[in-house]
Amino acid sequence: MKIVVDLNRCQAYAQCAFLAPQVFELHGEEALLYTPQAPEHQRDQVQRAAAACPVQAILVEEEGGPDVR
Ligand code: SF4
Repeated sequence: MKIVVDLNRCQAYAQCAFLAPQVFELHGEEALLYTPQAPEHQRDQVQRAAAACPVQAILVEEEGGPDVR
């Protein structure tokens, strides 16, 4: 599963890092690091993180398919 975070939108609220710590990691106050290709078994966590992001900065895509949010 492919993940894209719009880092221009991201306000480093860290909701995603809290809900899917294997995929999203906050370094310091505002540097978000994430895994752009996450394993399928983390989909639930990732989708919860995407839904929880206050600024909808996280997009989750099917492998080779359209955005499924
Ligand atoms: S929840 Fe959204 S705003 Fe907060 S760190 Fe994650 S991507 Fe950024």
